[in-house]
Amino acid sequence: MKQETRMFGKIWPERDRTPATTINPPLYRGSTVLFDGYQQMIQVNRHEYEGITYGTDRLPTQRQFEEAMRELEGGAVTRVFQSGIAAIQTALLAFTRSGDHILVCDNAYGPGQRFCRKVLKKFDIDYTPVPADVGADIAQYIRPNTVLILLESPGSITFEIQDIPAITAIARQKNIITVLDATWATPLYVKPFELGIDVSIHSVTKYISGYSDVLAGTVTVNERNAETFAAFYKLMEIYTPAEECYLALRGLHSMATRLRQHQQSALTIARWLESVAIVDQVLHPALPSHPEHHLWQRDFTGSSGLFAFTFKKEYTDEQLTAFIDSLRLFRLGYSWGGYQSLLTAARIVRATPSRYAGKTVVRLSIGLEDCEDLRHDLEQGLALL
Ligand SMILES: *Cc1c(COP(=O)(O)O)cnc(C)c1O
Repeated sequence: MKQETRMFGKIWPERDRTPATTINPPLYRGSTVLFDGYQQMIQVNRHEYEGITYGTDRLPTQRQFEEAMRELEGGAVTRVFQSGIAAIQTALLAFTRSGDHILVCDNAYGPGQRFCRKVLKKFDIDYTPVPADVGADIAQYIRPNTVLILLESPGSITFEIQDIPAITAIARQKNIITVLDATWATPLYVKPFELGIDVSIHSVTKYISGYSDVLAGTVTVNERNAETFAAFYKLMEIYTPAEECYLALRGLHSMATRLRQHQQSALTIARWLESVAIVDQVLHPALPSHPEHHLWQRDFTGSSGLFAFTFKKEYTDEQLTAFIDSLRLFRLGYSWGGYQSLLTAARIVRATPSRYAGKTVVRLSIGLEDCEDLRHDLEQGLALL
């Protein structure tokens, strides 16, 4: 192996064998991808080459994670992105053009809506927010140039659920593409393609990676949109770091087990909160008191650890600060889905009529700590109000 003598630090002959078989796949980093001979480069020029040609051509670690997600979702094509928001942005760009109009449910991820308002607008793509609990009444918002509907169900702050099959049935008739941000439910608790959705998005940053140390997102599309989306992704020359793909793939293996615990603890705490005198509503889709509980029961197979609650009266910022800063186990932070329990609180502002407008919503991400400890933490904090 005369190549061996020219390689720094390589102790095995190139291409003959890998030095060890590990359970997790090797991590591929690279900009340059080497060809075996000039014949292959000729094939590239003729668009006949089927191998990987460049770092942005989806190296094997990335492809392996994409394939795992594609299989879990039951889609035709999955592509990975450097964040969930990048996944949303690219999906919107892939399926719209100047002069188009899109509908976005009003509880969709804020930065995604901001992208519609400020970036798509620059390209003369118009956007209308529709109520967060929209169903068949979406028809009244559809214009002749409406090409896409972006849904998020349940929404990740106020947890309204849209009637997805009613919306996709109407959209299908009018040739409108439906996109669902399914991050809350993960690929385990909702099957978007079975509900008629065309494009399924996940922020991998949350439960899929699971440890609050990865930013990534995926877009999975059905057969009819596979070619368009794969071609657009290629045009964008997106690079997702191999480490993120590796950690995401690793996270998938424990996701079902983690989620069972998140689900159980969150339900225990949500049910307890319903019995707390100063608590008004507990916004958890799996509780019978949730306004769209029947839709959750019909379309979802589980619930994750993220939910919220409101108070019977509005407290001052000082009072809320006393409650929130007294907590020992709940930390303050936005990106949920990890083992650490988190809290955020904000007054809800919506573009469309909302049952929560103007109310303070406290959102909890229930982590993997002992559930009784979490409950006690909240109990002592709420006692201060
Ligand atoms: C966090 C989140 C996103 C964005 O994901 P990032 O990876 O943080 O960019 C998109 N949608 C939902 C529902 C989210 O919770």
